[in-house]
Amino acid sequence: MSASETVPEVILGIDLGTTNSEVAILRDGRPVVLSEDGDPIVPSVVGLDPQGKLLVGRAARNQFVLAPERTIRSIKRKMGQEVHVKLGDQSFTPQEISAIILRTLKERAEKSLGHAVSKAVITVPAFFTEGQREATREAGRLAGLDVLRIINEPTAAVLTYDPHPPEMERLLVYDLGGGTFDVSIAQVEQGVVEILASHGDTQLGGDDFDQKLLDFVCDTFESQHKVDLRQSLSARSRLLHAVEEAKKKLSYQPYVMITEEFIAEKEGLPLNLEIEVTRGQFEELIEPLIKRTLDCLESAMTDAKLQATDIAKVLLVGGATRTPMIHQVLTQRLGRPVHSEIEPDLAVAMGAAVQGGLIAGIDVGPVLVDITPHTLGIESLNSETRNPYFFSPIIDRNTALPSRRTQSYFTVHDGQDAAEIRVFQGEYSDTRRNTLCGEFRIEGLADLPSGNEILVQLDLDLSGLLKVTATERATGKSKQVVIDNMMERFRRRERVDALERLDALFEQSAVEVDDIVDEEELDDEFDDEFDDDADGDDSDDSDSDTTDDAEADEITDLIATAEAAAGKANAEDAAELRGMLSDLRAAVQSGNRAEIQPIAEAVEDLLFYLADR
Ligand code: AMP
Repeated sequence: MSASETVPEVILGIDLGTTNSEVAILRDGRPVVLSEDGDPIVPSVVGLDPQGKLLVGRAARNQFVLAPERTIRSIKRKMGQEVHVKLGDQSFTPQEISAIILRTLKERAEKSLGHAVSKAVITVPAFFTEGQREATREAGRLAGLDVLRIINEPTAAVLTYDPHPPEMERLLVYDLGGGTFDVSIAQVEQGVVEILASHGDTQLGGDDFDQKLLDFVCDTFESQHKVDLRQSLSARSRLLHAVEEAKKKLSYQPYVMITEEFIAEKEGLPLNLEIEVTRGQFEELIEPLIKRTLDCLESAMTDAKLQATDIAKVLLVGGATRTPMIHQVLTQRLGRPVHSEIEPDLAVAMGAAVQGGLIAGIDVGPVLVDITPHTLGIESLNSETRNPYFFSPIIDRNTALPSRRTQSYFTVHDGQDAAEIRVFQGEYSDTRRNTLCGEFRIEGLADLPSGNEILVQLDLDLSGLLKVTATERATGKSKQVVIDNMMERFRRRERVDALERLDALFEQSAVEVDDIVDEEELDDEFDDEFDDDADGDDSDDSDSDTTDDAEADEITDLIATAEAAAGKANAEDAAELRGMLSDLRAAVQSGNRAEIQPIAEAVEDLLFYLADR
């Protein structure tokens, strides 16, 4: 490089969070968060050790419960207020404490880059007042930073995902961090983001999930040992850490064992804590908290005067959005694609770095992450509807790779000695509409009543290798298969979807052409279709041979399944089932589809009922 060439100046992107902070830069036109010892996160905690030495980040956070008088956290909540906070025997303004965190981030960047930096973009919540923004700017100055711009956190998240969508897009940013919740509706066009509406709850976050779990664990322990662990500072401190770790594990596995040795003493004897928590129990605990976030979401949608269909994508931001229940409730509520492929606790810092790049005139490309473009899961029996073709998702679409998730399933029959594991990809709740990727049987299960737990783990790596492991929890017996070339399968599925869409288009235009060419013929066709729909069924009655074949296959399978079930049922049920089967056969022979369907559904209903007994 010649001496006259100028290197664009580095502009730091800083997420100064209530719980955690991060710093990012642009490297080769793409944002990267800077780590130290492999850790990208700096907890927003400042403290003094017993000797009066300054502690910032994890070290300060670790001493919080035992030395609260020497530790300050959540200073962001006080930004812009005319108050002082005490640290040991000195007192500081909120800007000064924030400046200590910012200086730590600046030093981290300088260490990583090997030279001094002074310019930064810092993010703040959309609801921050001018006074709070000014206090943040002042904190930057105290840290030796030239704050080029203060931007909103949801704006940063949008910039990380895609600063330049091909056309105007409206996005919903759902941001649940450790201590605060925000939901914003943003509009992005040509690198410019406008926040249309924003709502939030400054007293709601992942820390509240920890508190719920802590109370659950303490209540359970108290009922076992008549000792309230909340009364002991050191027990609480240990447990707070343990429940947060447990909560994080529950994002990827169906249950977790919380173990702490010698957590308390009773009558001179040490007591150990050993409590299992299932994801279901945890979800019950946090349900009211999640409901509060949905109330905010409704308010934001109302303020923006938008419907779910106006939203192109939902972006998940904040560490606590890794909780799978959040993905599920948002998909249910909005029915729009939910994205979390960019690490949700790093997306804001990365967006601040993108903004820095845009200011410096750097051509910023979209962040590249390998994701699974389709949902992966297995076929199971739905416990409510009794549908045996129920698709149970394990790894959601748009999940960053590599990804490993485990889910629990339960046997249906007493003494069931084998289970069929059928792995599918797709987005339909009925497996018959998704693509089968592989199947196997785990055999020789223990002789146990129904409800024997089988853990199914899907482990998808970057090269597209999918390992599927089924493990009987009671015995540890397990079986694994490896499905290769998942990426190629994903692409194949996309091709099939695209072909279907094209076929549908061609069919439509074919009808339009016929319309002009031969009206009489079209009338006949219409009459035929009308007959098919006479039962009021609005399902897609395509006349293609493949659909006919598939339907015929389904009915043949249904008849075989029902016959087998009749063989095992009591006399009364068997007679009813056989009566229905002879009606079904008669309808099949007459070839009237309108008649076949209701009888087939009645047979399916009876089969579900029988399977339940
Ligand atoms: P943030 O303020 O964005 O860094 O988010 C911090 C919050 O995210 C804390 O409450 C963490 O416990 C929570 N969190 C981090 N990882 C996970 C995870 N895998 N599952 C659930 N919550 C998590």
